[in-house]
Amino acid sequence: MTDSENYVYAGIDIGGTNIKYGLVDREGRIIHREQRPTMVEKGPKVLMHLVTNIAERLLLHAAEEELTVKWLGVGTPGAVDARTGVVIGPCPNIEGWQGMEIGSTLSERLNMPVYVDNDANLVALAEARFGAAIGSNSVVCVTIGTGIGGGIVIDGQVWRGASHSAAELGHISICYSGPRCGCGRNGCVEAYCSSGAIIERARAKLKKGSTPVFDALLDGDLEKLTIKKLFTANKKHDSVARETLNETASYLAVGLAGVVNLINPETVVIGGGVADGGGGFVDAVAREVRERAFDSAVKDLRIVKASLGNDAGFIGAGLLGEKY
Ligand SMILES: [Zn+2]
Repeated sequence: MTDSENYVYAGIDIGGTNIKYGLVDREGRIIHREQRPTMVEKGPKVLMHLVTNIAERLLLHAAEEELTVKWLGVGTPGAVDARTGVVIGPCPNIEGWQGMEIGSTLSERLNMPVYVDNDANLVALAEARFGAAIGSNSVVCVTIGTGIGGGIVIDGQVWRGASHSAAELGHISICYSGPRCGCGRNGCVEAYCSSGAIIERARAKLKKGSTPVFDALLDGDLEKLTIKKLFTANKKHDSVARETLNETASYLAVGLAGVVNLINPETVVIGGGVADGGGGFVDAVAREVRERAFDSAVKDLRIVKASLGNDAGFIGAGLLGEKY
């Protein structure tokens, strides 16, 4: 293997709570992995210093291990102009982050190419290259957690759209007069399927009549309800937990069926905390997408659970400079 082929991927995934970063070899094996709290409360300037510091230490670590890094990839919440590496959309979880020139700040400091993209796009890229959708030419990825993220990868490349706003799966409206979403619009998938929306729906059901499982889990205090407790109740076959998660799967499937009709992908990947914790959730979504989308669009469709977990963001970031 020549030196020019013997390089590793270096990626940083900036999240609202933690920054995850690492080095990955070209077969997708993680060589090095770390994480640090994002410290959003200290403001965007400090966060940019932190990201720069992490990048320098990551490159230093690679150098110490005699690993070649040819570029750095960075994922961030919010819409990103991938040509300039500037955050162009609002980031509700990181106040003041919109407008941050991540790409130029880092490339000047590190003296190497730096690629920046939206975090959900990078999860899709990583799953398509090394994860649950390996081998598929067209991949739609959706992550269900505090928010709903989406990414589309076609022929190994992220589909970003005309103005870097493609694949906002969470903000497809499934009901024009539906509940108000955090984005200010009505009936978005996120307004039904985010962990907050799921908890709220379960709470409303429990107000009408609690169950023995939730009585034991919550001590009669509905404010103690969390998504983890809902998953625990579901594992104990609780009827309210089961019904709430089944509804969530149906709402998501309505949105996804439209996406499947539009894109006709080979593989749909479903990830995030709700896919991991809600036993049988992915199967329930898959069943309903197959019923709702066109037969010809689902004939060969694979609907699978994400396989890279929390590492997907920095793995996808590292892949950004790769040309296929
Ligand atoms: Zn919305």
